[in-house]
Amino acid sequence: MSGGNRLSLIRDHLQGPTQPSNTVKMQKQKNFEIAIVGGGIAGLTLAIALYHRQVPVTIYEQAPQFGEIGAGVSFTPNAVQAMKVCHRGIYEAFERVCTRNVWPSKQKVWFDYLDGLRDPPPGSKAQEIAFSITSSLGQSGVHRARYLDEMVKLVPQDIARFGKKMKSLTEDSDGRVRMEFEDGTTASADAVIGCDGIKSIVRQAIVGREHPSAYPVYTHKYAYRGLVPMTQAVDAVGEELAQNACMHMGPNGHVLTFPVNHGQTLNIVAFRTSSEDWPDSNRLTKAAKREDALLDFREYGSNVLNLLKLTNPDLDVWAIFDLGEHPVPTFYKGRICLSGDAAHATSPHHGAGAGLCIEDSAVLAELLADECVIEPQDLEAVFETFNAERKERGQWLVQSSRHIGDCYEWRAQGIGRDFAKIEADINTRNGIIANFDVGKMCNQAREELKKRLK
Ligand SMILES: Cc1cc2nc3c(=O)[nH]c(=O)nc-3n(C[C@H](O)[C@H](O)[C@H](O)COP(=O)(O)OP(=O)(O)OC[C@H]3O[C@@H](n4cnc5c(N)ncnc54)[C@H](O)[C@@H]3O)c2cc1C
Repeated sequence: MSGGNRLSLIRDHLQGPTQPSNTVKMQKQKNFEIAIVGGGIAGLTLAIALYHRQVPVTIYEQAPQFGEIGAGVSFTPNAVQAMKVCHRGIYEAFERVCTRNVWPSKQKVWFDYLDGLRDPPPGSKAQEIAFSITSSLGQSGVHRARYLDEMVKLVPQDIARFGKKMKSLTEDSDGRVRMEFEDGTTASADAVIGCDGIKSIVRQAIVGREHPSAYPVYTHKYAYRGLVPMTQAVDAVGEELAQNACMHMGPNGHVLTFPVNHGQTLNIVAFRTSSEDWPDSNRLTKAAKREDALLDFREYGSNVLNLLKLTNPDLDVWAIFDLGEHPVPTFYKGRICLSGDAAHATSPHHGAGAGLCIEDSAVLAELLADECVIEPQDLEAVFETFNAERKERGQWLVQSSRHIGDCYEWRAQGIGRDFAKIEADINTRNGIIANFDVGKMCNQAREELKKRLK
């Protein structure tokens, strides 16, 4: 993104986000139906946004019900804007389950950054904070499963077909797209939007199974994740570090923590970089022991070790894969389109992957609901426009996230352990993510769509 663009984004943000003009209008009836494959954050927010704009939509989800893992996810200001564009209820659901830093003085703090190798002074748990990164939203974390439970209430149950693991897609001669599922059944729609996550089958259908972007790549980082009772966390590291979001930096590893469940629980994610390959790229998690985490972080200070000691004796390790090595050449082909992680799966170091999924949903919903989109033949132009508007930002995030993860681990070239440089780099990049006018992007996209449909 050019410096000029960045400045204009910051300026736009200062003037307040734009209201997309579509959401207030009565919609004309649509002569098409949309299928969404996958009901995670991308699929569900898109389905809610379409349903409430009277765009006919069905979700096909492989699981027996909607569900998310029991872990935390935090959102940045752009994500909150996108929630409001999709549907006010998505934002209200977020507000109901959202947890911010507990201390009033830290309401605007996104993360306090600490030298993870340091011990606190003798007799204390309080540790010197190297620098703090702030934002208009501060830290806003939710328990994934709680958030999803709230969002599910915004659509009727019969919008989804469960136990439908899609295995292939074909475009029929009449233009409809046919989906074949592992249970032997089929379904068709005028367009299919793949919200089927990092290992997307829809992506394979678009780029071809032989194309390198069909598969995500291991970033050589993995993460231990834990949710621990806040009372124990306070005993372990003191109130300041337990009740407010912290990033413990270190060589080839970093540990982030933020409160969820209205401050009752601490979310812990401990990342480690390794030169070894991930044993099985078909499985993104593997079983581990708490001792493995303690061994990985043995050179770190007592606060980091005390946090890791609180995690379950049996842990899952999550491999961090992304689409950074081989970005997809296109987000769409004909009437098949990608959204969310299926299009731009990123490592989580900016804490913005899910936020960009919701941005995607906002733009797609606004385009599909546009009054000039009526017939199935209009849908390819929608996806062409979506691709043109969203590809650069989605793929920038993937690269930037890799870089910023390395900054936290003192591995970034020309930056190393220089905290002033790390702080400056985070602020610049977080600005690009957060100071973004989602409504304006939607309006711009609709203008482009109108030109295409003329
Ligand atoms: C450790 C970690 C921490 C993170 N922290 C943050 C954070 O703090 N903030 C943030 O913004 N982002 C974060 N992210 C990124 C965020 O989790 C993802 O960007 C987001 O969850 C992706 O949502 P999605 O709906 O695109 O994909 P997914 O959540 O993967 O959902 C895909 C859905 O599709 C279904 N599906 C898959 N294949 C098929 C098929 N063949 N047929 C039918 N259904 C199928 C799946 O069952 C699933 O329901 C983090 C990621 C990780 C790994």
